[in-house]
Amino acid sequence: MGGEQALQGIGLTSPRTRERLVSRLRAAGIRNPDVLEAIRTVPRHLFVDEALAGRAYEESALPIGHGQTISQPYMVARMSELLLERGPVYALLEVGTGSGYQAAVLAHLVRRVYTVERVGALHENARERMRHLKLRNVRFRHADGAQGWPEYAPFDGILVTAAPASVPDGLTSQLAPGGQMVIPVGRRNDQMLVRITRTAQGYVHEDLEQVTFVPLVRGLG
Ligand code: SAH
Repeated sequence: MGGEQALQGIGLTSPRTRERLVSRLRAAGIRNPDVLEAIRTVPRHLFVDEALAGRAYEESALPIGHGQTISQPYMVARMSELLLERGPVYALLEVGTGSGYQAAVLAHLVRRVYTVERVGALHENARERMRHLKLRNVRFRHADGAQGWPEYAPFDGILVTAAPASVPDGLTSQLAPGGQMVIPVGRRNDQMLVRITRTAQGYVHEDLEQVTFVPLVRGLG
């Protein structure tokens, strides 16, 4: 806690810093007030190493160990907004827990978050952070998320934060009718954020924007 207070003393992780981040996101086009409020609430600096805490509110992806990164604030906000665009979400699956930051933001926006991570150490750390923040509507699983989480399927929303070369069938089949998945698809330097909606007539794909995510890797890490 000493470190945290010291950082607050120099203003790098203060609520005011978070407020500036919210203003930047609004200027960048994020409109959903609930998403902006969730970003205002979640202390992003607690999701990165203490040495990087002073950079936690910059618009950048930061390393979280094991060759992985915490997504940029804009991407976290944008993907949350896309998932909520067509109404409330009750059960949401996240593939790629990483630091747990995106899951913590989502915990303020949906009834239940189910999040899956393949790297054991990241899974444990994220679970510990969520306990510390007393967010009790998030469930964690250490597994290959490309297979979803069959016990809790179907999901109204699925958010994938690592990019596969193509959309895993195991995930689309776990979407509830009317449910939506937001997923980056493609190779390292050529990825498209895609939204897939399950309708009575089948799956509708929309290409949204060019993005850069770490690759989705199969099996446990
Ligand atoms: N949502 C995260 C972003 C983490 S980066 C955050 O807010 O910090 C993507 C994460 O996906 C990494 O932690 C990586 O280990 C994980 N990942 C990659 N392939 C996976 C798979 N098949 N199943 C589950 N997690 C996976």
